[in-house]
Amino acid sequence: MKALVMEQTAEGLAEPHIKDISEDLLPEGDVTVKVEYSTLNYKDGLCLSPKGGGLVRHYPHVPGIDFAGTVERSDSPEFHPGDKVVLTGWRVGEVHWGGYAEKARVKSDWLVPLPEGLSTRQAMAVGTAGFTAMLAVMALEDHGLTPDKGPVLVTGASGGVGSVATAILAHLGYEVAAVTGRPAGAGYLKSLGASRIVAREEIAETVKRPLESETWAGCVDAVGGAMLARILGQMKYGGSVAAVGLAGGADLPTSVIPFLLRGVNLLGIDSVMQPKENRIRCWNRIAIDLPMEKLEEMVQSVTLEDLPALGAAILKGGVKGRVLVEL
Ligand code: NDP
Repeated sequence: MKALVMEQTAEGLAEPHIKDISEDLLPEGDVTVKVEYSTLNYKDGLCLSPKGGGLVRHYPHVPGIDFAGTVERSDSPEFHPGDKVVLTGWRVGEVHWGGYAEKARVKSDWLVPLPEGLSTRQAMAVGTAGFTAMLAVMALEDHGLTPDKGPVLVTGASGGVGSVATAILAHLGYEVAAVTGRPAGAGYLKSLGASRIVAREEIAETVKRPLESETWAGCVDAVGGAMLARILGQMKYGGSVAAVGLAGGADLPTSVIPFLLRGVNLLGIDSVMQPKENRIRCWNRIAIDLPMEKLEEMVQSVTLEDLPALGAAILKGGVKGRVLVEL
């Protein structure tokens, strides 16, 4: 089977090789899946890098933190050959071999049956980034966000998480303000449903005052760092921010004032260890609330051979929308 394998050089750095490898090398697991599609996420960029981003423990390693495909063999009563399945998270592609191969062997507990109405291609056009965007929207809703509460900010809007969050929120009737460092991409973001474009510089400065005017009812934040700190002080009373990513940094240079004086909620979003029931709920919501024609606008299809260059690009914020890997 064809796979992208990260192998260590004599200097201890990892480099990608596209190879034909034996299926016998696949790790243990009770289900073998014929992978049809995988994707490129920020984390994949890290796993494709020479030091594995601190995520990969052992080499040789097959990256790919998500995949969708058809069950080929199963020792689990839950899945049968021919079932369509999707996998995100559980550290697959980091510590367990992932989706950048024609086959994957995993634990049945990690797999989710593909929801009605979603193809394996569409599931991976969504991928981990889109799945996480939906988790963020669900968390905001669970904390009382409704379209009448006011505008919702999406940061890192041209990226995978941001693009899907923008499309879902707009579809649900929210007024979406999209923060981007790529002004040339304004047309793309508007086509996904953003009604307002906010320049990154406008919101990237460090916090000068702990509270600014109340502007946003909710926020899906893929950037973190100084931008998230600033946004906390711009939230409306009782508003919530779903903290998803750290594309702009892992520090959070803020104060407790927005929490104490405005009742702002900071909601942590983790897609990796998400319980199975919520995964199923999330994939079902994606099938209903993400317009598939908008999803198509976000997608570029690539092959395993394209991944090393794209992996480096995503770490520099240079990839737009979603990258679909065809196996
Ligand atoms: P992408 O690279 O596709 O998107 C990130 C976007 O952030 C970029 O497109 C860019 O958008 C913006 N950006 C990049 N660098 C900076 C910077 N220095 N300052 C401000 N904005 C910046 O990545 P993904 O969408 O796949 O992931 C986004 C983040 O979410 C990552 O940090 C990732 O690790 C995290 N993530 C977390 C998950 C979880 O479970 N919590 C799951 C999936 C992802 P623009 O050009 O429009 O400004």
